[in-house]
Amino acid sequence: MKKILVTGGAGFIGSHLCKKLTEEGNYVICLDNFFTGSYDNISGLASGSNFEVIEQDIEHNIDIKVDEIYNLACPASPPLYQFNPVKTVRTSVVGMANMLELARKCDAKILQASTSEVYGDPLEHPQKETYWGNVNPIGLRSCYDEGKRCAETLMMDYHRQFGTDIKIIRIFNSYGPNMHPNDGRVVSNFIVQALKNEDITIYGDGSQTRSFCYVSDLINGMTKMMNSTCFTGPVNLGNPSERTILNLAELIIKLTASKSKIIHKPLPSDDPVKRKPDITLASENLNWKPVVNIEEGLERTIEYFRRKL
Ligand code: NAD
Ligand code: UDP
Repeated sequence: MKKILVTGGAGFIGSHLCKKLTEEGNYVICLDNFFTGSYDNISGLASGSNFEVIEQDIEHNIDIKVDEIYNLACPASPPLYQFNPVKTVRTSVVGMANMLELARKCDAKILQASTSEVYGDPLEHPQKETYWGNVNPIGLRSCYDEGKRCAETLMMDYHRQFGTDIKIIRIFNSYGPNMHPNDGRVVSNFIVQALKNEDITIYGDGSQTRSFCYVSDLINGMTKMMNSTCFTGPVNLGNPSERTILNLAELIIKLTASKSKIIHKPLPSDDPVKRKPDITLASENLNWKPVVNIEEGLERTIEYFRRKL
């Protein structure tokens, strides 16, 4: 039985990861400060004998012995990571350094949940891991983007300087059950608005693109990466099926049979114009590719929000 620490384990992605890892028979410790996570997401796991929750911030010292660390702690929704930007930087940088020290002390493997945001508003399309990105260092999104870029730097430097066993994944827009209804990201916003027959809020003209990956595909890629040998990454994990935000809104209206109308609101600053992962590296090194198409993934997510609302 492996002892695995999942930071941010009560959040959207973390809760699915904790579920999978406990089902595989590991002992899982979920460390979370519950800023954007919720007890609801992990309530099904709490009764198990191989699951434990520690309510704590990753900036603070923790003295435990683990075999693996998945570092997911960090708000991922733009309005929420911009709510307290200084804290967001600290979570990514101080928190990462703290987790890397723990990994070093325990001789544990550590995986960092990095992001496609390290590419910023990309000038290369689709984005390969070799692309260094186009990031504004002083804008509203910088607390998240630069925090995550610095966390990658720390990962690589611990690897080179101390031989720490590291894994870096760059997650592209993911969605599914356990997203918070008020999280503010596009999939949850549109589904909640559609189910309530409220206006669907498109920021800008809706021509910007994203590529959406269903959460079970992502979790599969994450555990494959942790179990891989001699491969540090960074590796892109995402679904290369790209669509405009307008197309996403129309699809969600159709799947929910909603009476909602589309309205337009101002585009936030530095909102990336396009985003699509090149997943050749994940396919070659991890034998991974997403299998859930957008209609199927959205149906499952809509079902979750219907119950939740
Ligand atoms: P989320 O906001 O649902 O989950 C983040 C979790 O981290 C929450 O439970 C929150 O309470 C916890 N947390 C935040 N700050 C913390 C701190 N200082 N100490 C302890 N816990 C803290 O977000 P998510 O979508 O599940 O994302 C998980 C990770 O994956 C994040 O690191 C995010 O940057 C990364 N990621 C997600 C996406 C995506 O599309 N969901 C894309 C790229 C990267
Ligand atoms: N977006 C939108 N309406 C919303 C929420 C988001 O049009 O209610 C847009 C947002 O401007 C961005 C895209 O949808 O272009 C994806 O936004 P999200 O916050 O989900 O993630 P991002 O990829 O920007 O981090």
